[in-house]
Amino acid sequence: MPASDANNNLCSAQYIREVMVSAGVTFKKGYGQNFLINPVVPKKTADAAAKSGAPCALEIGPGIGALTAELCARFERVVAVEIDETLIPILNKTLASYDNVTIIKGDFLDVDIKAISREIFGGKNYAVCANLPYYITSPIIMKLLEAKDPSMLSITLMVQSEVATRLTASPGTSDYGAITVAVSYYGRARRLFSVSPGSFMPQPKVSSAVISIELYKKGQYPVNPKDEELMFALMRAAFGKRRKMLINALTSASLPKRYGSGVKITKEIAKAAVELANVDPSVRGETLSISQFAALSDALCDIISPKL
Ligand code: SAM
Repeated sequence: MPASDANNNLCSAQYIREVMVSAGVTFKKGYGQNFLINPVVPKKTADAAAKSGAPCALEIGPGIGALTAELCARFERVVAVEIDETLIPILNKTLASYDNVTIIKGDFLDVDIKAISREIFGGKNYAVCANLPYYITSPIIMKLLEAKDPSMLSITLMVQSEVATRLTASPGTSDYGAITVAVSYYGRARRLFSVSPGSFMPQPKVSSAVISIELYKKGQYPVNPKDEELMFALMRAAFGKRRKMLINALTSASLPKRYGSGVKITKEIAKAAVELANVDPSVRGETLSISQFAALSDALCDIISPKL
């Protein structure tokens, strides 16, 4: 390893270049590799994650370890999942002074979150913290939320600035989207601070922001739909046809398989459900809050379930 190793300044652009060159590794755009070079950012991000009070942390995409090292300094146990195998030998060296970290080589989208929670964290609470690869922001967020792991207390993420705006948008605004409502079902999202492109190497074209999602505990969700899968199907239909009025948008929903292949939401069924749920039929679906989606899905459930 290069001489600058002694400083172990994982946010120095020069150091990052040196370790990568000496390992024969190049930045992979396809993996969304923009490494942090502003040392304040990983510290503030790790501080935010530590506020959860959880003893363990799960990181997605450690890169060469700038955020990982800050997590190791604040948490009892850290697991970091990295897809790029060429970075693993670098991480083994940059994090050599920490004995509380486990690096897993793999695609986070294929990882069994509950197995990590059970087998490595031993069922202890954990916080998720990451400077996300932007090309898979939504699938990663949805995977984390849908895991519904009671030991996962919070999610602190660096995302593209416009995604941060979407995650925290209010119903009816142009930034409000399917992911906004989905997140609002599982937890409370907040924008913490903005990060300029100059904080990364290579510099991304977009600005970034760190957000946190404080996850609701079981039984504390804002709504309790009879059929969660149906509620999410309605959300997808409403946001997939943003310009359509709610009733028309609902007719395009793909119902969960258990409702049977022949069962469709006709205009009449959609009208009846909207009325039963007490939702204004002239609104566009994209303006509905999580409570309205839950009411609508419960109404629909009552109407179509007897036909099963
Ligand atoms: N944490 C480092 C930092 O802040 O400097 C690197 C962040 S960089 C924006 C994203 C990292 O995620 C890269 O190291 C990339 O290789 C990794 N990555 C990309 N796709 C991934 C996936 N599907 N699963 C796990 N890691 C992934």
